[in-house]
Amino acid sequence: MTLTDIGQIKSLFNKYGFSFTKSLGQNFLINPTVCPRIAEKSGITPDSGVIEIGTGIGVLTCELAKRAKKVVALEIDRTLQPILKETLAEYDNVEVIFADVMQTDLKQLIADKFSGMETSVCANLPYYITSPVIMKLLEERLPIRSVTVMVQLEAAQRICAVPGTRNSSALTIAVNYYSSPKKLFNVSPGSFIPAPKVESAVIRLEPHETPLYDVDDEKLFFSCVRQAFSQRRKQLINPVAGYFGINKETLSDMMSENGLKPTARAEELTMDNFVTLYRIIERLKK
Ligand code: SAM
Repeated sequence: MTLTDIGQIKSLFNKYGFSFTKSLGQNFLINPTVCPRIAEKSGITPDSGVIEIGTGIGVLTCELAKRAKKVVALEIDRTLQPILKETLAEYDNVEVIFADVMQTDLKQLIADKFSGMETSVCANLPYYITSPVIMKLLEERLPIRSVTVMVQLEAAQRICAVPGTRNSSALTIAVNYYSSPKKLFNVSPGSFIPAPKVESAVIRLEPHETPLYDVDDEKLFFSCVRQAFSQRRKQLINPVAGYFGINKETLSDMMSENGLKPTARAEELTMDNFVTLYRIIERLKK
């Protein structure tokens, strides 16, 4: 069966009475070159374990199954179950779990299903939960080698922006805190059914094996980042001083003393600058 052939897809849908649920971000890949490319770029090997998020009808799942030792795929939509039974029948190394990725204990899943295997995540993500899924994968410090995912182009640009440059955002800083992100290639709307309104892109994140930044209180660090970006085109000193109840002049002096421009906007700060700002806040708020 060719899962990128519109005729075959439509007859599968008719056979099992499937219809798209827009709110679940169901845009299935139909460009035959894209899934093999994602699977290749994810760096999985015949010894790898792979977690897929959102199988759809299994078009990417098949490409992963051909290349990996084992694939465990999470899919929220149970109406896809009979279709997947047919489309994945020839692969004995795939397990589909019908569950919400956001409610799934991924650390436990990796321990249960991928013991002794190097594990990666690979997916064409449902766009409505792109940031929460990526942050869940990173914040839980899962033992994963890489995360190779399709996201909206705009999200890819935000995630892969260089911290300290105009496109950077709180998400850029968060992703860079935990991993090294890289944009791999763009995918046009016509590669999906139904076609989304915007361009997409595949990105790859490689989680740092050991933390790169010396931050004891991560909650405070991310709170600084969020406040700094809360008025992104304005000087960060105002929202940051206001939120943490710090005297603005004192903060300004401390920023100067520590090599930060008191008039800086959040998008001008590098990762190291944010760590410096966090240390200042940690000291002043006590
Ligand atoms: N991998 C398929 C493809 O490339 O054609 C489908 C990708 S589609 C963009 C996203 C898939 O994620 C859909 O099948 C959708 O039902 C599923 N999904 C949406 N929300 C989910 C969630 N919270 N947990 C798991 N799967 C989810």
